[in-house]
Amino acid sequence: MKHPDLREEVARVAKQLTGSGLVTGTSGNVSARTPEGDILVTPSGIDYEVLKPEDVVLVETGGRVREGDLEPSSETPMHTGIYRARADVGAVVHTHSTYATTLACLGWPIPPVHYMLTTLSEDGRIPLAPYTTYGTEELAGYVSEALGASRNACLLQNHGTITVGKNPEEAFSRTVVLEEMAEIYYKTSIAGEPVLLSAKEVEEVAAKISGYGQTRPLPTENEG
Ligand SMILES: [Zn+2]
Repeated sequence: MKHPDLREEVARVAKQLTGSGLVTGTSGNVSARTPEGDILVTPSGIDYEVLKPEDVVLVETGGRVREGDLEPSSETPMHTGIYRARADVGAVVHTHSTYATTLACLGWPIPPVHYMLTTLSEDGRIPLAPYTTYGTEELAGYVSEALGASRNACLLQNHGTITVGKNPEEAFSRTVVLEEMAEIYYKTSIAGEPVLLSAKEVEEVAAKISGYGQTRPLPTENEG
């Protein structure tokens, strides 16, 4: 079976999604691009707690199954559409995480309410892809449009979240940040009117953070 390490990472991240409460049951999915340009994606209808690396399905970017006994996720077209649109993307994570999906159901994109949003989107804004039925090419198109050339996250109206990264771990860590930012934006909006960062403040912090990634990890909540 090809790509044992990448299969293991996809399965591990799927378990982390359920373990962290970002995914319940089989509502989310994870994929990664292989060096040959095919996609490893979590299967449909399997509890991630018992998911094994060999259960992960290998599909072509057109969606045809190359290797695997199980059905690929019903949301595979959304994943393959993102890979076709973005050559820089190595992994995709999709969830229905509670706070981000709450915003998506309210029809609220996230404005630059916190500096960590610049790790997901240079302009500090998380857009909302319009609603259409899951698993369709139409949705894949809306999501690719919302992500544009360089965003790492977007919301899906009345549905959930998408994050992308170089690898499944990075896409997962961005899902964690997205859910945290969504919770903060939701709670501050309920309590009053959140103070937004200015375009200049967003630009400055985005430049500082993009310098971080090379030599040290992203700042955490423990930093000064
Ligand atoms: Zn979904």
